[in-house]
Amino acid sequence: MAITRSRRSFLAGGAAGALGGAALATPLAPLARAVEKTPLSSSPSELRITAVRGGLVRGQHSLFVKIHTNQDIHGCAEAVDGVYGAYYVMKHIAERHLIGKSPLDVNRLQEEMRRGGLFKGAQAGMYVAVMSALETALWDLVGKALGLPVYRLLGGKFRDKIRVYCDTAGSRLPPEEMGRRAKDDVEKYGFTAVKFDVDDASDPRKLDPYNWSVSLPELERMTAQIAAVRAAVGPHVDICVDCHGRFDEQSGHKIAKAMEPFDLMWLEEPVPAEFPEAYARIRQETTTPICGGENWYLTYGFRRPLEIGACDVIMPDLQKAGGLGEGQRISNLANTYNVPVAPHMVASYLGAMSSSHVCASVPNFLILEWQIYFHTDKMYQEIVTFDGPMLTADGHIPLRDAPGIGVDINEDALRRYAVKDVPFFE
Ligand code: MG
Repeated sequence: MAITRSRRSFLAGGAAGALGGAALATPLAPLARAVEKTPLSSSPSELRITAVRGGLVRGQHSLFVKIHTNQDIHGCAEAVDGVYGAYYVMKHIAERHLIGKSPLDVNRLQEEMRRGGLFKGAQAGMYVAVMSALETALWDLVGKALGLPVYRLLGGKFRDKIRVYCDTAGSRLPPEEMGRRAKDDVEKYGFTAVKFDVDDASDPRKLDPYNWSVSLPELERMTAQIAAVRAAVGPHVDICVDCHGRFDEQSGHKIAKAMEPFDLMWLEEPVPAEFPEAYARIRQETTTPICGGENWYLTYGFRRPLEIGACDVIMPDLQKAGGLGEGQRISNLANTYNVPVAPHMVASYLGAMSSSHVCASVPNFLILEWQIYFHTDKMYQEIVTFDGPMLTADGHIPLRDAPGIGVDINEDALRRYAVKDVPFFE
């Protein structure tokens, strides 16, 4: 049973009186302090946000935040992409919209942060990315306060484990090396799907460094690379190919056609995110499924692409598109268009696990992104703490029943990778 106010009062005052005054303060004081710090699950209305701290790491690629309360429980989360300078945006939003508030009204606080930023960039980019971390940390906090995993707060789960694909990047790799790495992804780590990049700004086969019309030799290189990947993984492993939104429309069309023999799970961002109509046209002309969305923000950003049939699959990045509740809203909107959701993910394991709660909570989840750096860069093991394995043997993230997200951050480890000249968790 949870601790109640009356028990706290008893320990703080009543018991002292009953057992005899001053002598009592000493033996019972530590117990009273412990009780004072115990989460008041039976009195969540007493919960208040007291501080928001955070820091930038990975060369300002990632903002980690921690929201503290008056009950010695905290929530943590991560934002990615375009968070340069975000420390100060985080402090501003926290001061204006979070400090002193109850964290329990997550959706209301998220909407207050968004509306409060309408003339500060709350439509896309850094403001929304920072808001995403704060919103996600609120879910973590509420889960810890109520003793529930976040997927329960989001309405429950459709599945117990989250299928992931391994992003192995490598657009400059020779075809045989790309094939070897794809084989490693499958045989060494158990992944059932892989992703490789094919856009390469420094490819000498390009027409020039600024033009993004695909040249025939460039197209030949891409085709050879993905042919090698397909040959290496066999017919039953899914393959995604990423263009990072670089190419013009006719090039996007050519690449999609060239990929048809390889039966991709998707071709990602063949053209810039600013042209959802071009996505729709390319999609109509090819059997290669088209995916987009890592550079669209909030549910508003996905409405038009879904309305015009821009994508076979959408890929909101939940560490920058508005947060976990927003991710669920985007997924549910996509579901009304019969479009599956495959969240983009370039964060730490904290971000991967945060996204997993949303992936569990919607019917139209397809697959979540995973990064090869989790296996090759020790920083990713040092900066997070959690129980159990990161992945199952068959390439899935196991959903956890720990309260909140189920992954915490190691501030001391994060500090080793902190960006210089920016305050860190102050
Ligand atoms: Mg991408």
